Amino acid sequence: MRVAGRIQRLGTETAFEVLAEVNRLRAQGKDITSFAIGEPDFDTPENIKNAATRALRDGHTHYGPSAGILPLRESAARYISRTRGVDVKAEEVVVTPGAKPILFSSILSCVDEGDEVIYPNPGFPIYESVINFVGAKAVPLFLFEDRDFRFDPEDLERKITPKTKMIIINSPHNPTGGVLAVEDLEVVARLAIDNDLWVLSDEVYSRMVHEGEFKSIISVPGMKERTILVDGFSKTYAMTGWRLGFGVMQKEMAIHFARIETNSNSCTATFSQYAGIEALEGPQDDSLAMMAEFRRRRDIIYQGLGQIRGVRCLKPKGAFYVYPNVTEACQNLGFSDSKELQQYLLHKAGVALLARSCFGPRCEGEKDEYIRLSYATSTENILQGLGRMKRAIESRS
Ligand code: PMP
Repeated sequence: MRVAGRIQRLGTETAFEVLAEVNRLRAQGKDITSFAIGEPDFDTPENIKNAATRALRDGHTHYGPSAGILPLRESAARYISRTRGVDVKAEEVVVTPGAKPILFSSILSCVDEGDEVIYPNPGFPIYESVINFVGAKAVPLFLFEDRDFRFDPEDLERKITPKTKMIIINSPHNPTGGVLAVEDLEVVARLAIDNDLWVLSDEVYSRMVHEGEFKSIISVPGMKERTILVDGFSKTYAMTGWRLGFGVMQKEMAIHFARIETNSNSCTATFSQYAGIEALEGPQDDSLAMMAEFRRRRDIIYQGLGQIRGVRCLKPKGAFYVYPNVTEACQNLGFSDSKELQQYLLHKAGVALLARSCFGPRCEGEKDEYIRLSYATSTENILQGLGRMKRAIESRS
């Protein structure tokens, strides 16, 4: 089969592969507790579903504008202005089917072949995948456990070259649950301004900060014009299947993004967008209750993992992931890396989770082993999964 070179450079999101494996095992009758996928286990709040059915009944079943319907762009602009303390206009917002297309369009619109893009590692695998896809060089910025999974500012500075075009940041962070401090954002901002770089700021977990307050780089003076901010509905409002997200950027850039939509999706599903207006403007009680529940589960899983021999972890500050260090557990079990632990736990203990390797290549000198667990699952599942893990990991140590 003759395929284009670029398609062979496109990576994937391994979580989806593990999910397929989980489904296959479940279809065979195996009982699997899954911590593998990052999606809220809650149902979309009723008021949002009602807004969508109302929109369907009112005939919002046709194509809409490529950049999104105006009232949703206005709502998103108000929401970002309020939560980030910057003045955002509707024409600076582009609505897309999920947050992912904004990541794709940002790299496609700002990065040329041969450019360099600095991205977090471990990190959401789509960044590296799309950087490679466009023929740019993916430059990993390592996040260190002993720095609370934040980067080292000197390391970032060293990685900038005349070819650097963009820095990607993600806070709260998938997979570590780390949250960048204001000082970190200021370092990124200073380097971006001094070196004329774009910053792609993935803020899909902005409403899931368990300690302290969320800060966005767009709020740092001088950053609004060089930031592309990504936010969405999937996590905050349990709307993963609705495919709804948006980006905030300069209005001239928004025109390019809209053109990409015209060329690819035409537009985002119109009735989903009406639901999005209700999500942003309607009562927030369900979303807040969901966030409080995530925090409660975080405490349970953090405590439980700490009681497994050979496992230690930092208390995650945001998102719904925990990223324990399992170096000792791997050694005790005779595994060469956490991928083997992932397989062992899936097939021997019936627990699905993701190994370090799902989040990018190892950093130079990185010796430790990690796994990611998503705690967007019921307390009952969390307790059951922890029990299974403890038995399996301690059985041979
Ligand atoms: N960014 C990050 C860091 C994510 O973890 C995810 C989803 N796992 C996304 C973007 C994509 O979200 P959406 O469903 O809105 O496309």
